[in-house]
Amino acid sequence: MSNQKEIVMSGIRPTGFLHLGNYFGAIRNYVRMQEDFECYFMVADLHSLTTHPDTKELKENVHRVLAENIACGLDPDKVALYCQSHVYETSELYLYLNMLAYKGELEKTVTFKDKARQHPDNINAGLLTYPVLQTADIILHRAKYVPVGKDQEQHLEMARNFANRFNHRYGEVFPEPIAFNYNQELVKVPSLDGTGKMSKSENQMATLYLADEDDMIRKKVMKTKTDGGPTAPNSPKPDYIENIFGLMKLVSNEEVINKFDNDYNNCSIRYGDMKKQLAGDMVNFIAPIRSKVNAILADEHYLKDVMRKGAEKARASARATMLLVREAIGLNY
Ligand code: ADP
Repeated sequence: MSNQKEIVMSGIRPTGFLHLGNYFGAIRNYVRMQEDFECYFMVADLHSLTTHPDTKELKENVHRVLAENIACGLDPDKVALYCQSHVYETSELYLYLNMLAYKGELEKTVTFKDKARQHPDNINAGLLTYPVLQTADIILHRAKYVPVGKDQEQHLEMARNFANRFNHRYGEVFPEPIAFNYNQELVKVPSLDGTGKMSKSENQMATLYLADEDDMIRKKVMKTKTDGGPTAPNSPKPDYIENIFGLMKLVSNEEVINKFDNDYNNCSIRYGDMKKQLAGDMVNFIAPIRSKVNAILADEHYLKDVMRKGAEKARASARATMLLVREAIGLNY
């Protein structure tokens, strides 16, 4: 048995402030995985160009995502923390994989259909081939595990298809990448209004950002929808109440959750108190991360150094894979 560590890869787009969904869906797993795996975590700046062609705020956003990852506990000395556009090998692999991806399957992707609806004036080929670029990012390091939230399940399935297709056509180079979460199920952090998931750009009042000030956190939590409370003991919870309990499970301790659960079941729950408790626990969770982020952002030299070191590590791994890829395809004359 070799004692080489298994390989992990994941990325986050620099399209805005990170939120609790990014934290609990992705970053929390990154932080745990860095101890046991060989990890490649990137800021997916090329992906962001598919929907955000205006690059005025890109640099600031890239720095912010890096700082937020580090503030949440990622250690740039333990992992390769890098910027996607600094690893040129990605573009080469993306090109080869594009020849193995079919228009029909790409057009059926749920995220493509969603984004085409949101940006009807910019349905570009990059948007269509987003899952191909994502596959290139992952298999460039021959990664096996991909810590992501539930919204990425379909993309991972496509990544497996593309990797398998390559292996069948040209010979075994890539392992099948699989979505990873420490607790069996992939996480979806719902938006505060219960209508979808928390996300960087949509519905900002229904998303809790790691950069939100204490008052803003309280305001957002206190606005969540409730009702007059249950009228019969042990009633099922409506979705929007289940949501509040779900959010509480992310940041509150068990006793607190059990207390409100019991109150709900015996019809004595006071939602005002519950939301106040949740708001306080959210503030306690987010405030220390927020202040660390601000300290890191103030040191541009440090961030540049992180990116340089990260790119060096990522490119070493990418170069080794690309030698195998060119050889397998037959581009070795
Ligand atoms: P966003 O959708 O906010 O733009 P990205 O597409 O950059 O975020 O995704 C970065 C990571 O965060 C992915 O692993 C994704 O699965 C995860 N993620 C994003 N939103 C949520 C959410 N609401 N719940 C769980 N995970 C999420």
